[in-house]
Amino acid sequence: SNESRAEVLARLPLRDDLRGRTPYGAPQLDVPVRLNTNENSYDVPAEVAAAIVEAVRQEAGHLNRYPDREFTQLREDLANYLGHDLEADQIWAANGSNEVLQQLLQAFGGPGRTVLGFAPSYSMHPIITVGTGATWVDGKRGRAGQATDDPNQFDLHVAETVEQIERVKPAVTFLCSPNNPTGTALDLDVVKAAYDATDGIVIVDEAYTEFARTGTASALTLLPGRERLVVSRTMSKAFALAGARVGYLAADPAVTDAIRLVRLPYHLSSLTQAAARAALWHSDVLLDTVEAIKRDRDRIVTSVRELGLNPAPSDANFVLFGGLADEKALWRSLLSRGVLIRDVGLPGFLRVSAGTPEETTIFLDALADSLLDAP
Ligand code: PMP
Repeated sequence: SNESRAEVLARLPLRDDLRGRTPYGAPQLDVPVRLNTNENSYDVPAEVAAAIVEAVRQEAGHLNRYPDREFTQLREDLANYLGHDLEADQIWAANGSNEVLQQLLQAFGGPGRTVLGFAPSYSMHPIITVGTGATWVDGKRGRAGQATDDPNQFDLHVAETVEQIERVKPAVTFLCSPNNPTGTALDLDVVKAAYDATDGIVIVDEAYTEFARTGTASALTLLPGRERLVVSRTMSKAFALAGARVGYLAADPAVTDAIRLVRLPYHLSSLTQAAARAALWHSDVLLDTVEAIKRDRDRIVTSVRELGLNPAPSDANFVLFGGLADEKALWRSLLSRGVLIRDVGLPGFLRVSAGTPEETTIFLDALADSLLDAP
């Protein structure tokens, strides 16, 4: 028929609150240099890949059985990795931190409740919020009257954060440190003040925390005595394990009991559990790439500034840079040169992940060439 899919979709009995929404859509294009989803550009080292294969091999013959629904050993290994005196019963894991966040919102958000985040931030926070039936409110970063070319315009400050939380009264507040897409790390004073300003859950999304510069602290240190605080992490970035889909959180053990009410039984396959554990046993080797990635991140900040553009200071494995006359044209120009980066929907800005030194150099050369073509 010549009816469009959009016409059929319009006729389907879709939930009203999902009509007109756009799905998460980072392009997955087969180009030489892919720096658009903040993955780790380094392959999993051969010795770690071999350990993962062996761990998965041992599970393969037992796939007739459901996995350990409580993934007890994985929670123990994750607690060990995190340190901070965390116990296994404070840890929860799922298929990527996106699923962790979805489970949190199923338990603590939902219909009739409001969720607050501070834009620009991770695009999945509102998508997961709406998908689980709650209402999303876009809060603001920076201070009133801050110049649009101020490199610190994406910082979150205590007074502004507290004011917005007290006004919106969210059931769940999202903080993100280092923040995607801006790279901005959060002062722990902001987390403490946000927590004190609400009776709701406060989630600190620390997907990129391993890339933070020295002097930036994790919100894990704030967990004792704060039963509504949740810190979420992932193995997708520093651990170079995005394809395995393993994310986790640390919180009061009661928070994991709340999640047990909504999680699907056996949501974490035995293959995933085995692969994640094997990777954690080799965390030293895996995390070796972090220092190299930070060097290329810092090189991007410096080089982009030398090109006359305006990079935001970054504690993550990516850089948001502004000062672009036409970010969509620049994005296309880079793509035509084989370099895929991210248009995060912020006028005048683009975001690029730090790659290997070779990839980073190809990006910086392509950027310089593109700017010469169309300043
Ligand atoms: N949080 C943030 C801030 C992210 O940028 C991402 C990945 N882009 C995630 C969470 C989710 O990652 P994953 O589901 O792979 O753990």
